[in-house]
Amino acid sequence: MAQHFINGQWLAASSGQTLPVIDPSTGEVFDQLARGNAADVDLAVAAARAALSGPWSRLTATERGRILMKLSQLMLDRVEALALQEARDTGKPYSQARNDIVVAARYCEFYGGAADKVHGQQIPYLADYHVVVLREPYGVTAHILPWNYPAQMFGRSVVPSLAMGNAVVLKPSEDACLSPLAFCELARAAGLPDGALNVVTGLGEEAGAALTSHRDIDFVTFTGSPEVGTLVQKAAAERTLKCVLELGGKSPQIVFEDADLERAATFVLKAITQNGGQTCSAGSRLLVQRSVYDRFVGMVAARFAQSSAGAPAMDRDCGPLINADQKRRVEGFIRQAIDSGIPVLAQGTVAKGVPVGGFYVAPTLFGPVPRDHRLACQEVFGPVLAVIPFEDEEDAVALANATDFGLLAGIWTRDGGRQIRMAKRMQCGQVYLNCYGAGGGVELPFGGVKRSGHGREKGFLALEEFCNVKTVVQYHGQ
Ligand code: NAD
Repeated sequence: MAQHFINGQWLAASSGQTLPVIDPSTGEVFDQLARGNAADVDLAVAAARAALSGPWSRLTATERGRILMKLSQLMLDRVEALALQEARDTGKPYSQARNDIVVAARYCEFYGGAADKVHGQQIPYLADYHVVVLREPYGVTAHILPWNYPAQMFGRSVVPSLAMGNAVVLKPSEDACLSPLAFCELARAAGLPDGALNVVTGLGEEAGAALTSHRDIDFVTFTGSPEVGTLVQKAAAERTLKCVLELGGKSPQIVFEDADLERAATFVLKAITQNGGQTCSAGSRLLVQRSVYDRFVGMVAARFAQSSAGAPAMDRDCGPLINADQKRRVEGFIRQAIDSGIPVLAQGTVAKGVPVGGFYVAPTLFGPVPRDHRLACQEVFGPVLAVIPFEDEEDAVALANATDFGLLAGIWTRDGGRQIRMAKRMQCGQVYLNCYGAGGGVELPFGGVKRSGHGREKGFLALEEFCNVKTVVQYHGQ
């Protein structure tokens, strides 16, 4: 049974209650996890607070970094077993799950190496004064994570916080939390002192809400839906806490008539089928210049028709969706689009022989989608791509920026001037020119604008989110 990890110990829920762990590829329960509540969160926050005056607080930045790099190596040493577990917990194809473990290890390596390279400043000031700017840990950081990339999200959210010397309390998703728990055991083996990393599992409205409204946390970072993100920000605002939000997206892939269409078509399929489209940065809108619309959409449709969803071991384009609700939701989008008369341009298949209880949905391509249809504006979080034609550069910019979200944009054109003009006009946090990076890029600052959230994760910049700046002004006399 999956338990909480608090102060270096595995603990059952104080209520004794559990939640089922379901394999999305079969729909069957294969384990139980602790159903945490406010009492469990209290214990975890107290352990984290104590760590800030215990052995953890006395480690140098270099020592913290070495522990994280050791953790990276331990993950890689066990990559096959961890990937199998991740694939079972999330349903993702085995090779994608394996990649997620490798990326989690890369986060540990990257932030382990960076831990002692975040420096303060000395500022020239008045003649008799000495001024330094210190970068200090915030204290207890609370992390609420989603189910789509549990292993990667641990690396992206928890690891930079530890690198900066904070003590972490994590509430992973009730739908997928096995990798973060496995990483706790490895972190202990790597030498992480007790209390530096604590995990409470359970439901969002119980354990999650208890954590984000806890009186003794210093910082909240949330990755998930805009609806819950708004609740988390309100809870943080009650105590004037810093809050980083990484929310959803409706990211456009914009294909101009002069693009390398073959290359673009291959990326377009992958950017929406990877992880079954359950990726915040999925390329879920395909905007195509009208002059190449038929030709390019035909190329993408041919790829969709060849694509398939299957069980993790089949290693198809995508696996099942995470749960029955998500399957119902995505099928609802598909049904409503068909009912609205939007043509299905192509549909992949669900592989023969998948277990009947699994949550499979075939990749589906719709177009042309009216610009105000919900398929053109709302996040589906499934392998469903909406194609919309545009006329010229001006029209492409207006269309790309027309949703409430602003996470990524992909721009496909051979015109160098247009690449930069377009990149500057995109309202989002990352722009890809003749490539697309859904999910990847440990080194690349990442985050959104508008309803996609605020604050930045990934890259060196993320470390600045996890430290407080303190200016020390000293009068030293003549
Ligand atoms: P979700 O918002 O339903 O849940 C996310 C987490 O919040 C879970 O751990 C859940 O238990 C917890 N939670 C739920 N209610 C809560 C509450 N009242 N208080 C505190 N915590 C609560 O999201 P999800 O369904 O797990 O993930 C899908 C969403 O996440 C999509 O919208 C997707 O775009 C987004 N996402 C964004 C990014 C990004 O980096 N921008 C990355 C991954 C996923």
